[in-house]
Amino acid sequence: MPGARECAFPVGPPPELLVYLDWGASSWHLSGALRLPPRSGRATARSLTCAALLYRFVAEEWLLTVNDLKHFAYCEAIVYLTHRMGVRETPTEYMEYGREVEKEEHVQQLLKKYKVARVLRGVHLVSRELRLTGAPDFILVTKLGELIPVEVKWAEPAPRGRVKRDHVVQLAAYALLMERTWPGSRFSVKRGVVLYLKPSPKFFEVPLTAEDKKAVLDMLKRALDVVRGRAEPRKRARCTGCNYHAHCPFRSYQ
Ligand code: SF4
Repeated sequence: MPGARECAFPVGPPPELLVYLDWGASSWHLSGALRLPPRSGRATARSLTCAALLYRFVAEEWLLTVNDLKHFAYCEAIVYLTHRMGVRETPTEYMEYGREVEKEEHVQQLLKKYKVARVLRGVHLVSRELRLTGAPDFILVTKLGELIPVEVKWAEPAPRGRVKRDHVVQLAAYALLMERTWPGSRFSVKRGVVLYLKPSPKFFEVPLTAEDKKAVLDMLKRALDVVRGRAEPRKRARCTGCNYHAHCPFRSYQ
């Protein structure tokens, strides 16, 4: 699991790895935070318990990631390829460069607009109830206590300056995870932000409605069925530009 990175924000994120777990079962429920201070390297009994649970989540192999869902929204065949056939995405130069982009400097422009009190990075969200895990690029905590997931994309928006559908799915999935796992009171995550860096940095606020979240829950259910081999993936009509094309038995040659 990747460690948390310290951001150069004036308000500063907590300099530790955070994992928020939601372990839902018929008879009991645990929602907790795993905090591993990097400097001392000491772990508490609580953090060790959370780490053991997290290990069990992964070992059970029933988790999908938010990235899986984002791919599923693009083409259902991708989760079949990655989870059942072990195919890895062919890395492109574009993707490699995207990893190197210093995302922190671009998020600065959001601080004033959203009256941000804290910016969190490296927060891993895990929900057994949803069978889903993921880590948004950033979580903004406003002065009013609102939580806003933020994704930074080394990409262009969709035609006519719209947010791409798979990115809306990604934000709605993070919203669902945050609502189920965040310690303390229950609340609704009502909006997220996508920051597209191409052709020039521009951010888009995305309302996250109950319908969006319901659509993601339906998509998650279907993705789990595909991963388990209970449903056939529906493939895209066109495969142009897909990074899985070389290894995909479902590909079309149009
Ligand atoms: S090659 Fe086509 S069918 Fe296969 S994953 Fe890519 S878009 Fe889907």
